[in-house]
Amino acid sequence: MPRRVAVIMPAMAESCLFCRIVAGEIPAKLVYEDDRALAFRDINPQAPTHVLVIPRRHIATLNDLGEGDRELVGHLAMVGARIAKDLGHDQAGWRAVWNVNADAGQTVFHIHLHVLGGRKLGWPPG
Ligand code: 5GP
Ligand code: ZN
Repeated sequence: MPRRVAVIMPAMAESCLFCRIVAGEIPAKLVYEDDRALAFRDINPQAPTHVLVIPRRHIATLNDLGEGDRELVGHLAMVGARIAKDLGHDQAGWRAVWNVNADAGQTVFHIHLHVLGGRKLGWPPG
């Protein structure tokens, strides 16, 4: 009989795709990581550069931010800007997008900042 090993995980980790990427259970093409954040290439890129910046901690949508998350969200924006600069998009331009809930097309309910660059991006967005 195999011995059962108890693994203690945050409650969302089993069901949330991005928590599983944070846990290393699903592979991703990482471009940046630190103690609070992770950034990786989008699996279905909408521009030559399409990177997702996420917190390690599970937060479902921007609606669920608390006062204590101010610094974290600022950090995610700083990471996105640094990636855009490192990939050479800072002067030509790039876009940061947070989709929230159904009308915006949010499909993964773990907050993520889309960093899009490398082509002219239309406005208004679709
Ligand atoms: P949303 O539509 O929620 O704003 O964005 C979710 C994004 O996650 C989409 O752009 C989608 O392509 C991306 N995505 C979904 N599943 C995976 C995955 O398993 N790996 C990666 N790297 N990106 C994913
Ligand atoms: Zn999550």
